[in-house]
Amino acid sequence: ITLSLPERLRQEFPILSETPYGKPLVYLDNAATTQKPNAVIDAVAHYYRHQNSNVHRGAHYLGDLATAALENARDSVARFIGADREEVIWTRGTTESINLVAHGLRSQLRPGDEVLISSLEHHANIVPWQQACAATGATLKVIPLQADASLDLTDLDQLINANTRVLAVTWASNALGVVTPLHTLIARARDVGALVVVDAAQAISHFQINVRELDCDFMAFSGHKMFGPTGIGVLYGRKEHLNALPPYQTGGEMIETVTFETATWNQLPYKFEAGTPHIAGAIGLGAAVEWLARQDRSAFLAHENDLRDYLTERARAFPGLRIIGDTADKVATLSFLLDGAHPNDVGTLLDQQGVAVRTGHHCTMPLMNLLGIPGTVRASLAPYNSRDDVDALFTALEKAARFL
Ligand code: PMP
Repeated sequence: ITLSLPERLRQEFPILSETPYGKPLVYLDNAATTQKPNAVIDAVAHYYRHQNSNVHRGAHYLGDLATAALENARDSVARFIGADREEVIWTRGTTESINLVAHGLRSQLRPGDEVLISSLEHHANIVPWQQACAATGATLKVIPLQADASLDLTDLDQLINANTRVLAVTWASNALGVVTPLHTLIARARDVGALVVVDAAQAISHFQINVRELDCDFMAFSGHKMFGPTGIGVLYGRKEHLNALPPYQTGGEMIETVTFETATWNQLPYKFEAGTPHIAGAIGLGAAVEWLARQDRSAFLAHENDLRDYLTERARAFPGLRIIGDTADKVATLSFLLDGAHPNDVGTLLDQQGVAVRTGHHCTMPLMNLLGIPGTVRASLAPYNSRDDVDALFTALEKAARFL
């Protein structure tokens, strides 16, 4: 028998066999974090069993193994996104990556400068820019929403203008799944010479990304949303822009020389990697991107788009269900509300039936305010999900709706 794509993938993700409350697990919270294949779990375990040591010290056998594994992981990530290895900075995740850039750019922002974000941003791509603007006198501007929750580019030429220094925008909304018109935005940012920072936290697991083709200056993403470990992420930055940024944290490893009076900085990427890195995490992320590189990513996306369409079709037919962000260009994420029910209550009733979704504001409070809602129920899918999972969601929703 030939297995379907999700059937084959499920064999590589041991956690999907768990049975919460004695029910088969239906994991639909992939936008929060994806599950991990054996390739990643084994790489992390292998590191701790056979290689654990501090890195970059050249002190002994294990130290050399650990250093090689860490730097091989960096090479893997660089290949995966089409960057040079010194352009790949290890961080704790998307949040730290964006903070690193927003903090560093304070030295370049002046009163009158504009930083442009979108209405769809996660708090991680809002608050660091608010702080940078507050510290420098620059102005934070926001791309508005249309009625269907896609971005409104009617006034693009005013939004991105001669004062725009930074365009910091997500590729896909974690809250609604809406995909942004990133290529149009980047082209306009190039016209005015603005720096482009892409929040790829959601996009990275769905799209095949090449940073040179995309023509961005910085890109942030998290390992745990792309089948890798938590606590590790990446900041990609174009070499000349990384060189122009001051260090974010200071201490060991990021220096070249230190006296009691002053210090000089290490070369890229180490200038931005103060302290002992999350070695096991980086190795796990390297294993995740090597695993992804072995997969048929086009088949992944086709399968996800098929699931997205099926999910949307079933949602439209469900009595009293309102889809939030019902646009054509979306990843396989569905945000919704049930008439008269608080999203948290819906989430609890789904959980009791083994269906894991996320409820609440999804770290997008300004977006929820624009939409005039307190939050949503969000089902977000990965390639190991199947139509059976979607059916299980709606069977559980029917039961939940009878309770509410
Ligand atoms: N941006 C987006 C679009 C996200 O989905 C997330 C995670 N929900 C973040 C930023 C923050 O990522 P992390 O918590 O891994 O730093």
